[in-house]
Amino acid sequence: MPLQLKRSWSDADLDTWRDSVVRFIEDEVVPGDEAARKRGDVGHAVWRRAGELGFLCADIPEAYGGAGGDFRHEAVFYEEMARRGLTGMSTSVHSIVAHYFLNHGTEAQKKKYLSMMARGELVGAIAMTEPGAGSDLQAVRTRAERQGDGYVISGSKTFITNGFLAGVVLVVCKTDPAQGARGTSILIVETRDCAGFRVGRVLDKIGLKAQDTSELFFDEVRVPADQLLGGTEGQGFFQLMSDLPYERLIIGVTALAAMEGAYQATLDYVRERQAFGRPVADFQNTKFRLADVATQIMVGRAFIDRCVEQIVAGELDTATASMAKLWGSETQGRVIDELLQLWGGYGFMSEFLVARMYADARVQRIYGGTNEIMREVISRAL
Ligand SMILES: Cc1cc2nc3c(=O)[nH]c(=O)nc-3n(C[C@H](O)[C@H](O)[C@H](O)COP(=O)(O)OP(=O)(O)OC[C@H]3O[C@@H](n4cnc5c(N)ncnc54)[C@H](O)[C@@H]3O)c2cc1C
Repeated sequence: MPLQLKRSWSDADLDTWRDSVVRFIEDEVVPGDEAARKRGDVGHAVWRRAGELGFLCADIPEAYGGAGGDFRHEAVFYEEMARRGLTGMSTSVHSIVAHYFLNHGTEAQKKKYLSMMARGELVGAIAMTEPGAGSDLQAVRTRAERQGDGYVISGSKTFITNGFLAGVVLVVCKTDPAQGARGTSILIVETRDCAGFRVGRVLDKIGLKAQDTSELFFDEVRVPADQLLGGTEGQGFFQLMSDLPYERLIIGVTALAAMEGAYQATLDYVRERQAFGRPVADFQNTKFRLADVATQIMVGRAFIDRCVEQIVAGELDTATASMAKLWGSETQGRVIDELLQLWGGYGFMSEFLVARMYADARVQRIYGGTNEIMREVISRAL
């Protein structure tokens, strides 16, 4: 069976794009990964290099500095990173932030931020979660109070992807604490030399070791009024909701690519590794396990590819995207656990890809909306 199935949505141009993405990743991301995992962040240079080569904001129109592609170009990048277990550079969160600008920003905000993000000069982060508010976003307490010609932001955020390297953070705040969803707005904070802004700990996680997931603190951070995303107060919740299919499909795409990467690495390993005088691949148990995994990848490919086609056509609904996130992340957890077993003790050692992928897979069921929230969303559409 082919180890990386042909995507139904790919074509000759996308194959060429994939080749250049792979070259960049192999030459410029892979060599720095071990050091990034030890340090807890990938550093700014690789972001700028990705920007220089045109790999960031691939689906943002050229008029705003992006590559002018669509979700398929983004998917290629996520897939090639995920199948190699490279999680340090969250270009997915970066692109999600770019989409908030593109879909909800004022013209001035789009012009100002998108080109800098596409060049990798500004890394993007989105700060929703707080110590006291995760799934229940209406419980956010970070306050943006209107004062004169600006806003004063006070509060704290946690678990923020790209938080340490971020140059621009979209901060979900209450502009009117008396109201629920309608009292929520998104403020744009530039972190450089920003008085009152502080990055707390880069959090010590069980996986995603190269990813700078951080705490952020806002102590009376002053921003001009035109840093309100979209320019109208009370839109934050609706802005967050409208981009959910995009965010959730990314998790489905990366889940399946990680399964493919782990499968390929395992197949190579069991063909080499000897036990009882023959390759581990020769045991019937190994063959059956791999047959099961290959079947799940094959079935998943059909569903995820269909979702990719739907999002490109503007037809992917939130419930289907939530299924992609739910199914993808649950299957990823099970499949990588099964594959790891075939490595014996080596599967437990962080120096091996499958061990890192096992640890990295766990959070896919938690972030981007937990899988319990996915089931809620899906059940509402039944
Ligand atoms: C590595 C990592 C990166 C992240 N990146 C970001 C980021 O970039 N930006 C950001 O804002 N956040 C980020 N998060 C936060 C993430 O989105 C939240 O952790 C997640 O939404 C869950 O919130 P919580 O941790 O507060 O859990 P809680 O909401 O406290 O949930 C605890 C448990 O209760 C369950 N639960 C909650 N509500 C319901 C319900 N209605 N029905 C059934 N069960 C329910 C949950 O499913 C979960 O099992 C990240 C988290 C991690 C771990």
